[in-house]
Amino acid sequence: MTINQAIEYSVKENKLPVCEEFYSLQGEGFYAGKAAYFLRLSGCNVGCSWCDTKHSWSVKEEDFKSYEEIISDVLAVKANCVVITGGEPTLYNLEKLVDLFHKHNITVNIETSGTGVIYHKIDWITLSPKHNGAVLEDNFKLANELKIVISNQSDFFVAEKYSEKADSNCFLYLQQEWNNKTTLEMVIDYIKHNPKWNLSVQIHKYINIE
Ligand code: SF4
Repeated sequence: MTINQAIEYSVKENKLPVCEEFYSLQGEGFYAGKAAYFLRLSGCNVGCSWCDTKHSWSVKEEDFKSYEEIISDVLAVKANCVVITGGEPTLYNLEKLVDLFHKHNITVNIETSGTGVIYHKIDWITLSPKHNGAVLEDNFKLANELKIVISNQSDFFVAEKYSEKADSNCFLYLQQEWNNKTTLEMVIDYIKHNPKWNLSVQIHKYINIE
């Protein structure tokens, strides 16, 4: 189905499309190394060329799960933190799901490109703007961490522009594009010269877990 059909279906059926879910460790950013249940919603309106989760772009009717089913899967593994990612999770209204997780004392983090409205009760917001997607201005102020993927030198310029819009308490991360190994050296060198930035390492890829 199209993205618009998926959004309509989600509202009508009170369900969300989940294309992948697993309990693992957060591999990136501030919470790297912490246990988290990943909920990957299907559907993306951004379309990055280097996307490593292209399987999340399309939405199928069989992806849809009720809030109760989603919560019960998380409770079954006794996770205390959920990371909602995508795809682009802000395509969907997440308020009911987030409120339900909170009722069960489960914290909710989100990883988003920032192209949609972010529910303000989400506990931790990772904003990762992409070339193809216009970020809603309000989302810069909501972000707890700003994560920029670096594929070439011009991305540093873009990263600086975004960081100016972020709140002063926002953690700033640069991350190499995984498939382009030469970018790691570039990122390390940039951070040494611009120490307000931190390196985000995708540790899950180094230690080969989901
Ligand atoms: Fe892939 Fe995320 Fe870009 Fe969508 S926003 S194309 S899921 S990297």
